[in-house]
Amino acid sequence: MVAGIDETAPCSCGLGPTAKPVALQRPALDLAEREGSHGTRFPVRGGIDLQCRIASRCAFLFRSLTEALLCSPPEQESRLSAAFSIGGEGGIRTPVTREGKAVFKTAAFDRSATSPWAAKVGCQPATIFDHMPAVRLEFLGTGTSQGVPVIGCTCAVCTSSDPMDKRLRASALVRTGDATLLIDAGPDLRQQMLRARVDRLDAVLLTHEHMDHVAGIDDLRAFNFKQQRAMDIHGNAATLHAVKRLYHYAFEEVKYPGVPELRLHPIEQPAFTAGGVHVEPIEVMHDRMPVLGFRIGGMAYITDAKTMADEEIRKVQGVDVLVLNALRLKPHASHLNLEEALLLVDRIAPKRAYFTHISHLLGRHAEVGATLPPNVHLAHDGLVVEVPA
Ligand SMILES: [Zn+2]
Ligand SMILES: [Zn+2]
Ligand SMILES: [Zn+2]
Repeated sequence: MVAGIDETAPCSCGLGPTAKPVALQRPALDLAEREGSHGTRFPVRGGIDLQCRIASRCAFLFRSLTEALLCSPPEQESRLSAAFSIGGEGGIRTPVTREGKAVFKTAAFDRSATSPWAAKVGCQPATIFDHMPAVRLEFLGTGTSQGVPVIGCTCAVCTSSDPMDKRLRASALVRTGDATLLIDAGPDLRQQMLRARVDRLDAVLLTHEHMDHVAGIDDLRAFNFKQQRAMDIHGNAATLHAVKRLYHYAFEEVKYPGVPELRLHPIEQPAFTAGGVHVEPIEVMHDRMPVLGFRIGGMAYITDAKTMADEEIRKVQGVDVLVLNALRLKPHASHLNLEEALLLVDRIAPKRAYFTHISHLLGRHAEVGATLPPNVHLAHDGLVVEVPA
């Protein structure tokens, strides 16, 4: 029994008791008056905003977390570790405070009853809550359609020993809340999933039908087998049409055993839901082909753009993190070059911008990166960017 928690009332999440937050020692929190239930957001002072994801004993968690948050960072860390004795899979990992928001690197608590926290609190290990979802964006590939190095090329970039100059085909993993979304499924998908240790995907968002963005779809079978369900694929009508044509065997009436199971969802304007995540499509032009970018919270991911209409620019103006393609130094018919990408960054005015879909003709990562404005960076494979709420 944890003092102050009503352990009798069922929580709306069905997984645990409703927890009544207890009065905290520090009066700055308005947590004491709030009822904790699944999905409740608790504004805490200083812009800290926590969300209860599953209410089991959440008052206990809230109290411990908020108390820890009120401490200075070094003490925060030790208080959190003391409160939750973290270990194993899931749970609260290292808390960091950034830009006035509490950012808890959490994974949903494992529900396997093996968590040390669960044993300590003595309840069913349901979970917990997250920090407010920050979106976590991981670049799985940042190369153009041929990748870098290019087969057979002996240029300075392709022969560079700098790991930043190795670029798989453009793709990104987006984690927000409990969901993991994949943007594009190119020919390096298998290697990318292994490298980033992705063991679950909730949905795949496709920007367009070019092979460097869809050639890995067959390998999504691994997730079909592991998750025992079809994979949700979101794209515009032309992209889904191409997927059906390219992977016709996955859509036959009588399927050969083991083919990928794909559930196609045409993307609707002005927003859609993928894996439970609210996504706003942004249309850009790739020469004359419409391509979709995606805005998820404070992050916008745009690739294979050459031009962008004013109204689409408005949809992403001022985002925290903008991902944009920047192919090379010379102009190209269907891609922004570096100069055009920088001009578009100026118009969109994000807090930070990361360039992707990079060709060996852009130059070496370190040299080009050094010429960019302070808030603009070349992305590289494996780069993780956290987007505050
Ligand atoms: Zn491409
Ligand atoms: Zn080269
Ligand atoms: Zn393309």
